[in-house]
Amino acid sequence: MAGALEKFGIDGDYLPETLAVRGGQERSQFGEHAEALYLTSSFVFKSAAQAAKRFSGEEAGNVYARFSNPTVSMFEERLAALEGAEACVATASGMSAIMALVLAHLKQGDHIVASNSLFGATVQLFSNILARTGITTTFVSQTDPAAWAAAIRPETKLFFLETPSNPLTEIADIRALSAIAHEKNILVAVDNCFCTPILQRPLDLGADLVVHSATKYIDGQGRVLGGAVCGPKHLTDEVFKYLRTAGPTLSAFNAWVLLKGLETLKLRIQAQSTAAAELAAWLEAHPKVARVYYPGLASHPQHALAMSQQTSGGAIVTFEVKGAREQAWTVVDHCQLLSITANLGDTKTTITHPASTTHGRITPEARAAAGISEGLLRVAVGLEAIEDLKADLERGLSLI
Ligand SMILES: *Cc1c(COP(=O)(O)O)cnc(C)c1O
Repeated sequence: MAGALEKFGIDGDYLPETLAVRGGQERSQFGEHAEALYLTSSFVFKSAAQAAKRFSGEEAGNVYARFSNPTVSMFEERLAALEGAEACVATASGMSAIMALVLAHLKQGDHIVASNSLFGATVQLFSNILARTGITTTFVSQTDPAAWAAAIRPETKLFFLETPSNPLTEIADIRALSAIAHEKNILVAVDNCFCTPILQRPLDLGADLVVHSATKYIDGQGRVLGGAVCGPKHLTDEVFKYLRTAGPTLSAFNAWVLLKGLETLKLRIQAQSTAAAELAAWLEAHPKVARVYYPGLASHPQHALAMSQQTSGGAIVTFEVKGAREQAWTVVDHCQLLSITANLGDTKTTITHPASTTHGRITPEARAAAGISEGLLRVAVGLEAIEDLKADLERGLSLI
């Protein structure tokens, strides 16, 4: 991105590795090398006149931390640079980013077409909370562009997708869905939590907005919650207006943690996805495993599409053991190393049984229709030695 480091008197184009470490940094008068953490809820003005100008927007600058904070701004600029976005607005969590995006751009009577394999809380947000405000959603198959086209109504304002999906790693064709949406002036938003801008840049593929749960790979070490919306400034400005009034702003401390997370994001996600690819191949050849879902495997039904929009298969591997819940739980319960938790994106590898946890509240019929079988397990690969991860899974697999 040109000009991203201009404020240091450094001119020119920089590659993502450089922007991840240096992008967005603003030094104070003290010349600190690391990014400063500005723990302050408000800012002082030199005069009554300056206060008035700051409040009216006539003069740029900080007023109150619900609106902006220099540490949060550094995080926003750095993430925008990585996504190839003109602007970014940070939020308190991934869910508040999605809420802010929708409420900033849609109103009562508007309609969303969304993937039927979105993150569980996103489905609840759309089908319960937003439905109560008169914003309705039609859920369609992630992998069927014709179904998205058929679901469009005159009042449709947004396509919302998440690719690869969780846990079955279904791929949405970002280019094809963006083309369908743009013919009807519909915005396309992509939840890019699983790939991060290192593996996939939805804006380059035609999407209008990217949302993140920064809680996952961007922090990468399971410490803080955070979220963001990235895109052209005229679209993120609407999100900012919602945020400064409604208030789910990112805290300065969390922004500071996430800024440092971005510096190592590429190293982490690439190492984690290299390990995930090896684990996926090992599981596919394992006699106790019925099926592996991993976009980087040639056996994935959408492997070619995945590789046309992602630079690798990512760090999440889902597989079905031969058997049902009892066999899947045997694998989980014999893990000594893998953490039994629904979280993902951490340096510590995690294992989840979706049918009894993340997808436990939906009916068995709906679960079966969604392909979430009782034998399914999801592993979010971290940074431990791959040999140790295989040995941990083998303990349970060998007992099936
Ligand atoms: C975790 C997650 C979210 C929600 O993010 P929070 O930071 O927990 O609010 C949204 N989308 C996806 C894909 C996620 O994995």
